[in-house]
Amino acid sequence: MNGEFRTGIGYDKHRLIAGGPLVLGGIPIDFDKKLSGHSDGDVLLHAVVDALLGAAALGDIGTHFPDTDPRWKNANSEIFLRHALGLTRKKVSITFLDCIILAEKPKLAPHFDAIRAKLATLLDLTIDKISLKAKTEEGLGDIGSCNAMAAFVAITVKLT
Ligand code: MG
Repeated sequence: MNGEFRTGIGYDKHRLIAGGPLVLGGIPIDFDKKLSGHSDGDVLLHAVVDALLGAAALGDIGTHFPDTDPRWKNANSEIFLRHALGLTRKKVSITFLDCIILAEKPKLAPHFDAIRAKLATLLDLTIDKISLKAKTEEGLGDIGSCNAMAAFVAITVKLT
């Protein structure tokens, strides 16, 4: 129904491998490891895509960009987000995003404003509509040992 609010959630996790820079939310960050995946492995952008597709009930990132498709090998994840925006634009208007990155290192707070500004540009929103938080896993598990990074995103949209 027009005007109805919905929430979509997205989650993603990728391995960290040797060699920087780390690209997170489309922003290069000086670090000695990078995210690995069929595409560029940008967990935050992937979680945003899944949250947006979820809010529009249009499947998930794997449906639209299968990792068996050579077209998406090493692909810049901004392509996925632009495609998802194209699919969802007529159906929903984005109101707010709340994002959590799970990472032991590096310290991400100094990069928050750059990442928020990048997401704002990609999503055509103002920066105050994007909340970004980061948590460590206190040394526990694959994230705590700096072998992986994950992201959760909740997106609020209004049906148009
Ligand atoms: Mg992914």
